[in-house]
Amino acid sequence: MKNRIIDTDVLIIGGGTAGCFAGITLGKKKDLDVLIVEKANIVRSGCLAAGVNAINAYITKGRVPQDYVDYCKKDADGIVREDLLLSMSERLNHVTKVMEDLGLVILKDENGDYVARGNRNIKINGENIKPILADAVEKQDNVTVINHLNITDFIVENNEIKGAYGFDVNDAVFYEINAKAVLVATGGAAGLYRPNNPGFSRHKMWYPPFNTGAGYAMGILAGAEMTSFDMRFIALRCKDTIAPTGTIAQGVSAKQINAAGEIYETKYGLTTSERVYGTVRENQLGHGPCYLKTTGITKEQDEDLLKAYLNMAPSQTLKWIESGKSPSEQDVEIQGTEPYIVGGHTASGYWVNTGRETTVKGLYAAGDVAGGCPQKYVTGALAEGKLAALDMVKQFKAGTLKEADIQTETEIKVQEGEILSQYEKFRNEDAPAFSVEELEEAMQKVMDEYAGGIASNYQFNEKQLALADEKILQLQALAEKTAAADMHELMFVYELRERLIVCRSLIAHLKNRKETRWHSFNENMDHPETDEKFYKYVNSKLENGEIRMIFRDIVKEDTYEHTN
Ligand SMILES: Cc1cc2nc3c(=O)[nH]c(=O)nc-3n(C[C@H](O)[C@H](O)[C@H](O)COP(=O)(O)OP(=O)(O)OC[C@H]3O[C@@H](n4cnc5c(N)ncnc54)[C@H](O)[C@@H]3O)c2cc1C
Repeated sequence: MKNRIIDTDVLIIGGGTAGCFAGITLGKKKDLDVLIVEKANIVRSGCLAAGVNAINAYITKGRVPQDYVDYCKKDADGIVREDLLLSMSERLNHVTKVMEDLGLVILKDENGDYVARGNRNIKINGENIKPILADAVEKQDNVTVINHLNITDFIVENNEIKGAYGFDVNDAVFYEINAKAVLVATGGAAGLYRPNNPGFSRHKMWYPPFNTGAGYAMGILAGAEMTSFDMRFIALRCKDTIAPTGTIAQGVSAKQINAAGEIYETKYGLTTSERVYGTVRENQLGHGPCYLKTTGITKEQDEDLLKAYLNMAPSQTLKWIESGKSPSEQDVEIQGTEPYIVGGHTASGYWVNTGRETTVKGLYAAGDVAGGCPQKYVTGALAEGKLAALDMVKQFKAGTLKEADIQTETEIKVQEGEILSQYEKFRNEDAPAFSVEELEEAMQKVMDEYAGGIASNYQFNEKQLALADEKILQLQALAEKTAAADMHELMFVYELRERLIVCRSLIAHLKNRKETRWHSFNENMDHPETDEKFYKYVNSKLENGEIRMIFRDIVKEDTYEHTN
């Protein structure tokens, strides 16, 4: 492989929602060199690739940021960081305005006010939201973008970030990027569990299959503290198309009903996890299939729904058209997806301070990869990108982020050699016992059956988790002997590696929250009740190859700084 070394002030890993907005914010600091590296192409990558049709986190008329904090806190039964939620909520409307000024179409009523959908949500025509963001990044003359560069490892010395290593997914080029500060914005982790649709359609999942938990894995390996992987996210989705249900539930106030037409959502509760749990229970009790009741909506609402899904999940619109029946003529069947780790919906991810710096000095996290701050969605990810960028600028001014003087460091040269030889090992292996795809399938089967996937109605016990851990460890050993015929396949090798690393941490978290705080998201059958002893964050850190659990008290202060 050819070797390319780049020096920059700020490295942003992942040119998605949070990464782009951090780039736009840092674009105003002309004295800083900023580099965004993206494994795909920032014009259409990550969660926003296909567009979205609403801003899910917005402070609507008559409400204040604290209302949003209170809502998120209640939904997560208290296991959130209020300092993070508040600093995010205070910026939701600002980042929305910036997006509108950049060209995002936000629907307005006859008075010129944004059209609200429920209490926290506004409607947009968001099919092109990602190209708009990418275009704004492009205009910043101190920000460079490298597409098709897959980052696999951080450069860390004495718990201080120095940059990252990666490779080009098309050409045989190894990258060493030296930076004074790094923002990890690689999104959450999909594909850990066996998905709803098998075989050819297995990547028809809710979360982007390309967000494979790289950021989590790199952080875990570098010894960064992670939080709340035990708060998995399971999305309630339209059956088969896996299209979001919020558009129907909030857009036309559709209720969840069972096969007999009974409304069951009020029986189980209305939090995000309870809506999934109710659907699972009704099916277990033989009352399925479950639906969102759309029959009887008006012709105008029919039209609105067909159009709304074109902005985000066109397959749902096609399904209605193909069946020859509009939503007003048939209810929409719903189901839970496989579990994901995604800090933009639940609270899993890096343990950060209020400025979004992780426990590794100079390493920041924003968006779905950052923990403690659930329900951030698009605007929350944008806000966190901005908050992280502003904190970096503050630290640059104060002189606490320093030159990455690593060229002479022998320890780092050894690390570089090891990473490069790992890449080469996979490229040179010509008789692998198993392909990446076979190992991925095996991993998903293990997680599905023993770590609370769809097969076990999201439930697990400690014996099953122990088996899951044992088998994931075996798969990690086998994954070391797989092969890559080209650079694109090398990316698949690393995606598998990332997922396996995340799986192990996830299992440890599930095992250590010895209670059931959120039905379905963490349904521990050995401890089926909530236990106030666990009114804590369950955190973890990899130390000498072992996952060490850390139980932290709930943060009550307005700001939080790492102290231990
Ligand atoms: C299908 C779907 C619909 C949604 N609908 C809405 C909605 O209507 N309204 C709303 O408010 N929110 C919605 N959300 C949530 C919202 O889109 C996300 O929370 C938010 O966009 C996450 O931003 P992010 O920057 O963390 O991740 P992303 O925007 O996904 O960015 C992560 C980026 O990192 C890149 N990357 C990953 N690994 C690497 C690596 N190793 N090296 C380099 N680059 C890497 C990825 O390619 C990607 O570009 C939706 C999410 C999904 C999945």
